[in-house]
Amino acid sequence: MASKRQVTAVGLKREVRDWAGKIRVEPKQLYVQRMTRKWASCSTRGRICLSTDLLREDRRFRSVVIVHELIHLMVPNHGKLFKSLMNAHMPDWERIAGGRVSRMCGFVNHSAGTRTSGGRRRREDLPGG
Ligand SMILES: [Zn+2]
Repeated sequence: MASKRQVTAVGLKREVRDWAGKIRVEPKQLYVQRMTRKWASCSTRGRICLSTDLLREDRRFRSVVIVHELIHLMVPNHGKLFKSLMNAHMPDWERIAGGRVSRMCGFVNHSAGTRTSGGRRRREDLPGG
């Protein structure tokens, strides 16, 4: 079958900087490290971590992950604005990601006091119509 073109960690970081230039954001810190559960994560402080698993992935899939995390530097959620930016830079991203999006993101909002792991809080009193 097709030969796998592996990219190095340095090459991956270069791709991120390329995209950052197009999208006009600037990640403050960029890491490539072993991440078994996520493709990538980022924080509101501008730190982006990418999994070494991405080095073996298709270049287009890497781009989807990269663009996703870079947009998080501007938009700290997955709302309408996030999706419209995603579509603007990567119109085919949903097809390319092929359902792997849910594993993609380990977005951590350090400025908010909410914790998602092991929390006991429930939203019982949602304002309804
Ligand atoms: Zn995300």
